[in-house]
Amino acid sequence: MFRVEAVDLRYVTVVDNHCHGILRSQRFEDLASWRRAFTESADPSMPREHVASTAFYRRLIRSLAAFFDCEPDEEAVFAARAEMEGSELTGALLRDADVEILLTDTGYPPPEEVLPGDELAELGRCRVEPMLRLETLMERLLAEHDSLEEVKEAFAAALDDVRGQGYVALKSIVAYRTGLAIRGWTGEEAEASLREFRRDAEERPARLAHKPLLDTLLHVAFAEAARQEVPVQFHVGYGDADTNLLLGNPLHLRAVLERPDYRGMPVVLLHECYPYTREGGYLAAVYENVYLDLSYGIPLLGYGEMLSFTREALGVAPISKLLYSSDGIGAPELHWMSAIDGRHVLGQALEELVAHSELSIPEAEAAGEDVLRGNAIRLYRLSSG
Ligand SMILES: [Zn+2]
Repeated sequence: MFRVEAVDLRYVTVVDNHCHGILRSQRFEDLASWRRAFTESADPSMPREHVASTAFYRRLIRSLAAFFDCEPDEEAVFAARAEMEGSELTGALLRDADVEILLTDTGYPPPEEVLPGDELAELGRCRVEPMLRLETLMERLLAEHDSLEEVKEAFAAALDDVRGQGYVALKSIVAYRTGLAIRGWTGEEAEASLREFRRDAEERPARLAHKPLLDTLLHVAFAEAARQEVPVQFHVGYGDADTNLLLGNPLHLRAVLERPDYRGMPVVLLHECYPYTREGGYLAAVYENVYLDLSYGIPLLGYGEMLSFTREALGVAPISKLLYSSDGIGAPELHWMSAIDGRHVLGQALEELVAHSELSIPEAEAAGEDVLRGNAIRLYRLSSG
């Protein structure tokens, strides 16, 4: 490849279009419990035995050692972070990452465990905009109302004015519950599914994973989102340990994407759909209302793999459809390192487009700024500055 001038994105602020709250308490009793923040595995032996040998974790330790100015080993880094109070650490990392706006999914972790939005904004000298998690709202309304009709009505009413309630987007985790092949169901099928949900709720806390019922309620949300032109984020691909990754392929969304009455609903495919990045990029290339999120925090990947998904996305999707995120959750290290890595990786991948005469250097820099912040500002209608 030709050597080209560097595409330097280090001074571009980021709009993190998908992340979660940061825990108020950053006290972890030992290394293994801190490592748990850097795995999607629910198996307790993973943080003890294997997490420390991932490429992601090794990169994290080296990056943090440079930040704390300590030895590049995990004990030294863990000791250095423990010297700081939780909110002090969070503020220092967010400011160092030069975050402009965080779009947070307030559905998880529980609000009582995380720093509230206004405090987070002050600590990070950034803006924090909340997004509404649909399944959490559905579960609450299912507990408050009896019949399916009542639940649907209450759900539509709750989503009647999404922006007016202060939310910039809706978010669905249906991929983790029943998969992305969302379809239509008859009233009878949805009623039967509701009865099954009620029976299950007698035994354990209500967890909505009843496909006909969940799909039916999602269609209520899609109609509202389309009418108000509010973006809906879908978790796609690699994520929670409970996901069936076969059902998390974004191609399953075809029935929803083909609906002409939903064309007003921007659809954001999260997590670069990893490992289905090409499928997600294809959808963003074909459907006017589909956008692809590029997350550099979670999934927890090595640098080469981040570079390769960025190449895949830039290789097929319009650059105007790509959005930066961290999917950071709980520990502020994720939000921080993602911003640093995202700028690097994106700059490197854009340099390749310059080397192939696809972009000029100024075009590549403008493209980098669009992916890191501009596209999100336009899509979510966030005024900047
Ligand atoms: Zn997330």
